[in-house]
Amino acid sequence: MKGVIRDVIPQLELFQPNSADDALALLAEHGSDAWVYAGGLDTLDWFKDRVKRPRVVVDLGGVESMREIRSTSDGIEIGAMARLIDVVNHPDIQARFPALALSAKTAASPQIRNQGTIGGNVAQDTRCWYYRDGWTCYRAGGNICYASPPTAMNREHCILGASRCVAVNPSDTAPVLVALDAEMVIRRGRAERVVPAAEFFVGPEIDIERMTALEAGDLLMSIRVPSTWSGARVYFEKVRDRDTWDFALVNVATALRESGGVIQDARVVVNGVAPTPVRLTAVENAIRGQARNEQTANRAGDVSIQGTVALAQNGFKVNLMRNLVRRSIRDEVMTEA
Ligand SMILES: Cc1cc2nc3c(=O)[nH]c(=O)nc-3n(C[C@H](O)[C@H](O)[C@H](O)COP(=O)(O)OP(=O)(O)OC[C@H]3O[C@@H](n4cnc5c(N)ncnc54)[C@H](O)[C@@H]3O)c2cc1C
Repeated sequence: MKGVIRDVIPQLELFQPNSADDALALLAEHGSDAWVYAGGLDTLDWFKDRVKRPRVVVDLGGVESMREIRSTSDGIEIGAMARLIDVVNHPDIQARFPALALSAKTAASPQIRNQGTIGGNVAQDTRCWYYRDGWTCYRAGGNICYASPPTAMNREHCILGASRCVAVNPSDTAPVLVALDAEMVIRRGRAERVVPAAEFFVGPEIDIERMTALEAGDLLMSIRVPSTWSGARVYFEKVRDRDTWDFALVNVATALRESGGVIQDARVVVNGVAPTPVRLTAVENAIRGQARNEQTANRAGDVSIQGTVALAQNGFKVNLMRNLVRRSIRDEVMTEA
């Protein structure tokens, strides 16, 4: 394996704007030479390992306006620079979207939640160790996937949606945002576009070198969570190797609207199983109009694993996903991590 240097960051030019307009102007000026720096927790690994070497870094730490979390006429708008701990503790998020607060609370460790931002959490790169250690895989511009052969270390990789690359999306907040029909507000220069969370995450079949819709010059400004699912039953659960802190092996976010014990509408989303969070529309269709009971939950679990393809070492994820989807419909909603 190639040696890595974990102490000295290669030389770069650091900009610390204190407004979003200035940050956007810098990104426009430097294009693909520039790297957006939020909390730095994903970023600094890349820089210290010298695997990514941007010429210019635009640190958003001084852009106070991007930290705001505010209630709007139709929900809540979370500034991309709001820290994970701010999402966990915000009273309106706790009251209206407790599953989002819970997902942020299960992400990483207290120290990381105190520094890491929600924007960085959804925009973070995959944790495939071959890719992160600088192997020239497909995702890194090469023409091979080191993680997919039977002899590779692929216990944490895809069981769905692989397209040459088998790396998974590691975010805990992402599946909840997709389930809540959130929207990502993105700016490039003066132009703003609003992308549904479900389309924000990009798989290798669209672009193998990025995980999201963000491209050079783009700034994720905020995340809008509409009232659509406020007050509905929204279940989040994450299974990881260590309960102190760890990335998800599989997580699930299920939003259900019920009337008289019958499921009227549903969003069922899993992450940690594919290069993007996956909305399981076949499960949603199977449970809509059904009573919320053990039988419906079992059926949902069985439908959820249709089309899965396990690698040599991650077959356990198939059962794990089936059980998480089943529990997300059957069990009481959890409020504590
Ligand atoms: C040890 C460890 C354990 C972790 N465990 C978990 C876990 O269990 N669950 C989980 O979900 N996450 C986990 N994480 C990930 C952590 O939550 C993220 O690294 C963190 O949220 C990234 O946020 P950041 O603010 O530090 O982003 P940064 O590292 O600064 O940025 C991450 C990426 O997003 C881009 N970016 C950030 N903000 C913007 C923006 N506004 N516009 C455009 N691009 C942007 C950056 O350019 C970069 O590519 C872990 C991280 C570490 C180091």
